[in-house]
Amino acid sequence: MNQSSSNRIRKIVIAGGGTAGWMSAAALASMLSPDNVQIVLVESEEIGTVGVGEATIPDIISFNRMLGIDEAEFLKATKGTFKLGIEFSDWGKLGDKYFHPFGNHGADMNGIDFHQYWLHTRQAGNSNSLEEYSMCAVAAKNMKFALPNDNPRSLLSQIGYAYHFDATAYALFLRDYAEKRGVIRIEGRIEQIVQDEKTENISALVMQNNQRVEGDFFFDCTGFKSKLLGETLGVPFYDWSKWLPCNSAQAVASERRGELLPYTKSMAKSAGWQWRIPTQHRTGNGHIYCADFMDDQQATDVLMQGLDAPALSDPRTIRFTTGRRDKFWHKNCVAIGLSSGFLEPLESTSIFLIQQGISRFIALYPSLTPAAKVVEEYNRLMTREFNQVRDFIILHYKATQRTDSEFWRYCKNMSIPDSLQHKMELFQCAGRVFRDDHELFSTSSWVAVMTGQNIYPETPEPMLLGVPIQNIEKSLQSMQRAMQQTSIQMPTHAEFIKNYAGSSI
Ligand SMILES: Cc1cc2nc3c(=O)[nH]c(=O)nc-3n(C[C@H](O)[C@H](O)[C@H](O)COP(=O)(O)OP(=O)(O)OC[C@H]3O[C@@H](n4cnc5c(N)ncnc54)[C@H](O)[C@@H]3O)c2cc1C
Repeated sequence: MNQSSSNRIRKIVIAGGGTAGWMSAAALASMLSPDNVQIVLVESEEIGTVGVGEATIPDIISFNRMLGIDEAEFLKATKGTFKLGIEFSDWGKLGDKYFHPFGNHGADMNGIDFHQYWLHTRQAGNSNSLEEYSMCAVAAKNMKFALPNDNPRSLLSQIGYAYHFDATAYALFLRDYAEKRGVIRIEGRIEQIVQDEKTENISALVMQNNQRVEGDFFFDCTGFKSKLLGETLGVPFYDWSKWLPCNSAQAVASERRGELLPYTKSMAKSAGWQWRIPTQHRTGNGHIYCADFMDDQQATDVLMQGLDAPALSDPRTIRFTTGRRDKFWHKNCVAIGLSSGFLEPLESTSIFLIQQGISRFIALYPSLTPAAKVVEEYNRLMTREFNQVRDFIILHYKATQRTDSEFWRYCKNMSIPDSLQHKMELFQCAGRVFRDDHELFSTSSWVAVMTGQNIYPETPEPMLLGVPIQNIEKSLQSMQRAMQQTSIQMPTHAEFIKNYAGSSI
């Protein structure tokens, strides 16, 4: 055996079988031959999974495509629906409503961002909201859906979408995919984690029945416990609750009623917010709140009052701390999913961060003794990703004018990271937004949330000052009309799913 061949990973052990564990297993199995690298996943039915995580962002499409998953089959198996964005209510002020769509608003003209034209006409009295120029928002409001097409002249090319689904069914779907490709599943509780005395690398997991599961590389997908990276390797956790103070959730499913929404609802409450996520067979609901400002019984009352149909069970309470690990990869272990950090589900970014963790690991796939540079790069990229998503989520809390509860007064007055302060101040100077370093959220997303929560630039875009307002108004009007007409021709969301995924709704 030559030197390079002996320095390769032969066995990867994934600890945990929630969404993170099975997404990791499926992705690794799609890339690595079982003859070359054995993949073993250990999970405990008795411990179970967190069981939430039903809303996604468009990047999940590329993950499923990378695995070669058929979209219609996936939607059928996971009771999935389409998501065109999120409707936020009562976030800026009580009574406010805005839509954060996928895809862009309008079309940039002469190298100037679309939102600048809209702001310009707004100053001249145009009362149309920004979302009236978003194909996704217009379709969502009309309960319509169609897949995007490739023709840049068609407004359907502006559709961006993601899914709502049953998270448990998605993990099972991926389990089936992974097991068919050679992943070995071991059922049982991990009792002990063994480290090499010299290197401190993890060498084995010891199960309750004393079975030893040895490996060369370990994925920590054990959820909030972070049994390998946190508990065993001692990688510290950065607590971000001073910026993202919600620390509790109550989740409950309810009967599906009324028209099938092609979007998530996020309704601000007095100490947090409530989600409504439509799947084919039920509606997922949850109340995210800060237990320092509201007790659990009050939180349950708020959740139950906010349902649009009878609950299917009693609500479950989940506690969490927002933040991230200091490192995501340490020694021979990488943490994926809740074991690596959690930013609360306001913008449905956790599954995306799982995906990023997996794809970066694959891009930096190590030898048996990983180069320090590889580990450093992985940690740099994941740190950047978590920090960027963090800032976008904090924006929703900070940019409130609500003073009707102690919680909202805290959020309004809290200090924020310098990086976010910079973004908000820059926007106030002539509406400028710059996307940092491959940042996930687009200019459109930042503008949707800032203006949706009543932050407007103090000065106009100087480049538009001499441009006749009538010309701009004319193009905006025709854009708006064309979007309305396109949406009329689209099928309803429910009809689309019935035809596409053959599901009875
Ligand atoms: C309230 C809430 C709402 C959310 N909503 C969204 C959303 O809308 N969109 C989104 O993208 N994300 C959302 N998330 C995040 C999402 O749920 C998670 O990112 C996702 O489910 C992945 O979880 P996980 O696999 O890391 O952990 P878990 O689901 O907790 O899985 C942990 C696994 O480890 C196993 N395990 C743990 N300890 C042991 C042991 N000792 N021995 C053996 N096995 C063990 C468990 O059995 C389980 O299989 C939400 C999270 C919360 C808390």
